[in-house]
Amino acid sequence: MNPGTVYLVGAGPGDPELITLKARRVLAEADAVVYDHLVDAALLELAPPGCERIFAGKKGGQVCRPQDEIDGMLVRLALEGKSVVRLKGGDPFIFGRGGEEASALAAAGIPFEIVPGVTAALAAAAYAGIPLTHRLHSSAVVFLTGHEDPAKADATVHWEDYARLKATLCVYMGVRKLPVIARRLEAGGMAPSTPAAIVESATTEAHRRILGTLGTIANLAAREDVQAPALLIIGEVAAFAESLSWFENAARLSAAR
Ligand code: SAH
Repeated sequence: MNPGTVYLVGAGPGDPELITLKARRVLAEADAVVYDHLVDAALLELAPPGCERIFAGKKGGQVCRPQDEIDGMLVRLALEGKSVVRLKGGDPFIFGRGGEEASALAAAGIPFEIVPGVTAALAAAAYAGIPLTHRLHSSAVVFLTGHEDPAKADATVHWEDYARLKATLCVYMGVRKLPVIARRLEAGGMAPSTPAAIVESATTEAHRRILGTLGTIANLAAREDVQAPALLIIGEVAAFAESLSWFENAARLSAAR
């Protein structure tokens, strides 16, 4: 039997309407869907009724399945001749381990395709009214992970270096390490007055936005009890959030109606 194709598919940031038409088509044709915890349940309904649905997150008491177990599952399903959708939050190649999964498929000789998705930084910025680039204020955007232990000697994110780029910094998975991240950017020379924003559960009904500065954002996040998933955006462009606040305004209007 010929192996089936594995599609590494970006599900977008939360709102199920923000998935691509291509993702919708491969889901509708899938024999098996392997999905992550940030994926909206409505998207699983796009798969046909007989499709196998496998949650790649929790297993027994464990928080996460080991990555090699997921890789092995994708290979096994494809070898059974199935068309497999590996559905991931946001984009599969941005902090999504899509690279590891694609490598495992390539090594096993399984045909695969990547279907990009709207990554959280783009969605959080759009819904918070923050243009990530701006002709007058920012010519570069950096996607960083705050997940690493910044105290780790061999950490790959050397925060002080990013303080001097004059770029917009988008930090994924940064909630827990926010105080250290802010301190280290300041230590690298970024002004404490630099505008900063946190967008929690962007594009979903739980969407929440907290605006401050590099110097205040960690305390504000603690006071507001910010929870994952949340995206931290730092840079001059974050100041636009006040005047370009379209999503909050729309939500307020519909609540008042
Ligand atoms: N592949 C995903 C990222 C996975 S890492 C993507 O491209 O978006 C998970 C992190 O993404 C979270 O810790 C959070 O920082 C961010 N994230 C995911 N969904 C989000 C959302 N709806 N709002 C804000 N941040 C989100």
